[in-house]
Amino acid sequence: MQAEIIAIGSEMLTPFRVDTNSLYLTDQLERLGIPVIRKTVVGDNREHLKAVFAEALQRSDLVIGIGGLGPTEDDRTRESVAELLGRPLERSEEVVRMMRERFRAFGRKMPEVNLRQAMVPAGATWLPNDNGTAPGLWMETDGEKIVLLLPGPPPELKPLFEEYCLVKLRSRAPRQAFSTKVLKVTGMAESEVEEKIAPIYRTYKNPETTLLASAGEIQIHLRGTGADAGDALRRVEELGERIENALGDAVFSRGNESLEQVVGLYLMMRGATLAVAESCTGGLLGQRITSVPGSSHYFLGGVVCYSDKLKTKLVGVPESMLKRKGAVSAEVAEALARGIRSRAGATLGVGITGVAGPQGGSPDKPVGTVFISLAEAHRAKTVKHRFPGDRERIRQFATQAALNLVRRKLLK
Ligand code: ATP
Ligand code: MG
Repeated sequence: MQAEIIAIGSEMLTPFRVDTNSLYLTDQLERLGIPVIRKTVVGDNREHLKAVFAEALQRSDLVIGIGGLGPTEDDRTRESVAELLGRPLERSEEVVRMMRERFRAFGRKMPEVNLRQAMVPAGATWLPNDNGTAPGLWMETDGEKIVLLLPGPPPELKPLFEEYCLVKLRSRAPRQAFSTKVLKVTGMAESEVEEKIAPIYRTYKNPETTLLASAGEIQIHLRGTGADAGDALRRVEELGERIENALGDAVFSRGNESLEQVVGLYLMMRGATLAVAESCTGGLLGQRITSVPGSSHYFLGGVVCYSDKLKTKLVGVPESMLKRKGAVSAEVAEALARGIRSRAGATLGVGITGVAGPQGGSPDKPVGTVFISLAEAHRAKTVKHRFPGDRERIRQFATQAALNLVRRKLLK
């Protein structure tokens, strides 16, 4: 059984809106063991809608259309699909009653235009929408294909899918179990990771392996199928272990934890505390650390010291050092780390200073140059990086490298 998703709405063909519902649905369908083989975005246009649905039905057993079930003239999904399948639309008095009830509950009278939403193609089953007016529609063709139409607003689509579609789909889905695993790696380039693990995962057709890269993080997604849950899990665990062995402690997570969660866990286990002094990341490191619930147990706080003056005033970086070495230097990074550590009374202090660009680069300190230092009681470790990309990417890379420096310290 394979599925396609059709996102319907002319707004998603503009620069201002994207289709996010299909991300949710692909996740849900994947859990059911139903692969999504294609996604389409189409405007609210009758001819285009009919063509897209007709094509999808040739390929796939399950076609899910999202959106365009609204009460206004520009919502054409219902009519187009009914026409394509040769099913006349009939008004469901039960749906009308439900919609009137819903309007009454909100103290309003139902506008006549909403009656369009009570039109149900012959032979279709309508699915109640507990969070909006447009019901979902479930249709089966003579060729035993399923067409499912869902309302576009995510707060309507998700509960409707979980409440009324999951059970129906589960009974149709193949009796195949599957299992997934995500390994997260930092401190390595995607090509390095690929070089190390491709010879291993290429020998496996099942599980399937996918690499996803972002600034400073590579995710390795494994998806295995099997006759039963245990079989699928075993396959994923076997390959996962081989990959982990090849990458060593560059792998920071084998569940779905973020790097800041892992660092938090390690700090907690060691009973250690952390404070940070950030220049070019402007608080992004502190933001990431404090996004983890319970971070108050180990994170004492941070200082955003963007100007030289505040580096001196708040963290105690010597003025003479700033003059001599420049704000972007290994010395200043270390002074930031030591300064914030001692002022905060923390076990560990982190200092970050760099050139995030696009201006401010120089031949010996080009854009992307970032010094990160980690201070403990009697020593400090400082690393010079040269990160690629634009300002946001460089800042993301820098926080990732800083967190990894802390993680590696605590690993020992
Ligand atoms: P309504 O009764 O609210 O009009 P509808 O089924 O007609 O429901 P649309 O009019 O197509 O839904 O979309 C309503 C809103 O839902 C859109 O403005 C958009 O914000 C959101 N939406 C629609 N489709 C998607 C999608 N694929 N991904 C994310 N958001 C979507
Ligand atoms: Mg619409």
